Amino acid sequence: MDYQVPRGTQDILPKDISKWQKLEDMIRQFCYVYNYDEIRTPIFEHTNVFKRGNDSSDMVNKEMYTFQLENSKTSLTLRPEGTAGVARSFVENKMYGNADLPAKMYYVGPMCRHERPQKGRMRIFNQFGVEVIGAKSPLLDVETIALGWSFVSALGLKDMKVLINTLGDDESRAAYREALKEHFKNDIDTMCPDCKRRYEQNPLRILDCKVDHDKDIMKNAPKMEDYLNDSSKQYFKEVLDGLDMLGIPYEVDDRLVRGLDYYTHTVFEVVSVNKEMGAQSTVFAGGRYDGLVEYFGGPENMSGIGWAMGLERLIIACEAEGIQLADENGLDAYVLCLSDKVRKEVLGIVTELRANGYRTDTDYLGRSYKAQFKTVDRKHARCAILVGDQDIENGTVLIKDVKKQEKYTVALDEIVDKMDEIFNSEE
Ligand code: ATP
Ligand code: MG
Repeated sequence: MDYQVPRGTQDILPKDISKWQKLEDMIRQFCYVYNYDEIRTPIFEHTNVFKRGNDSSDMVNKEMYTFQLENSKTSLTLRPEGTAGVARSFVENKMYGNADLPAKMYYVGPMCRHERPQKGRMRIFNQFGVEVIGAKSPLLDVETIALGWSFVSALGLKDMKVLINTLGDDESRAAYREALKEHFKNDIDTMCPDCKRRYEQNPLRILDCKVDHDKDIMKNAPKMEDYLNDSSKQYFKEVLDGLDMLGIPYEVDDRLVRGLDYYTHTVFEVVSVNKEMGAQSTVFAGGRYDGLVEYFGGPENMSGIGWAMGLERLIIACEAEGIQLADENGLDAYVLCLSDKVRKEVLGIVTELRANGYRTDTDYLGRSYKAQFKTVDRKHARCAILVGDQDIENGTVLIKDVKKQEKYTVALDEIVDKMDEIFNSEE
């Protein structure tokens, strides 16, 4: 028996955590300004929250961690994505009755999918996602894309591209589905097993196939564009006009058919085109969905729009562009304990500094003066505070401002004042 993390999962270690915290802080800040509120849904749900009827996606059909406890008839699934849980909660908590629709929400947290692990593809990974439910306006499609776009731009990412397409409304999609069935009819037997399943369940998803991708039959497939009715064309035009207005660069990609079977109208993927990215280049992706709220027992015609961003992939994209996500924060003070007899005083000093907001630490191992000074360096402490027998007798300590290379003898009850002086002179 060995003890290692399961394949496709990782520890995020203390030495790397500042990146994650920086991202999470920025997420909160962005969502606050855009007026999106956080929602936290359970990490597992009843299986039928994710597995809805005849869903054709790989995620639902092949990648779910589903389990049933002994003596229980309830089938539960670790969430592979955020949208379903949010839509379920929207209905369960009757948010559709709120006066101020649409509900604008965001979430951050781990998702689980049983995939083949590779760079940028994990079995537990973290997503930041947004969902806007209860209003259908192309301007909301634009707003959500703008939120994600301004977020990645603020991080400093430059090699990003929006790929966008429309799947049209139900009528347009039904016409397109028929055209695709007709087109693939004679060749479906030669295609991959997943495509055969998709042919029956949702022929649009055949276009998403990574196995048969380069076959002529794929390249010559009919185009969605030719099956859009006027109102679907108009909707898409308004989305693109909005992106133009905000100066968000995009490329219309008529092969983009991603996502839930419930997707209607707008679908998009925001990808990094940086060479270092490898195959997993989509940083965030989403689209408009109809029918999900109704599926969970809510009112009809409650449309939603949302996307999800893989934070591990976001970090890879930042690294590829040489973006430093967080600087290491040093200590404000390291208190050197120069004799066992002064431990009590040191404890008092450390506690008082902390109570005043100074990030402070001290030695607990009885190490030598030299070793403790090394720690001052290693922890990038701004100040070293030296406390020895003599000091306590005199009622003073020595504060060394490491940055300015200055030393001060300070009375025990004036340590915080001196620290304030040192730190205020920074501004
Ligand atoms: P892919 O085609 O790469 O499998 P997907 O369509 O399954 O993507 P979504 O379900 O739309 O992806 O998830 C949104 C985002 O979440 C992706 O763009 C990606 O950044 C991230 N993501 C999805 N699956 C994984 C995973 N297994 N590991 C890490 N990040 C992931
Ligand atoms: Mg996937």
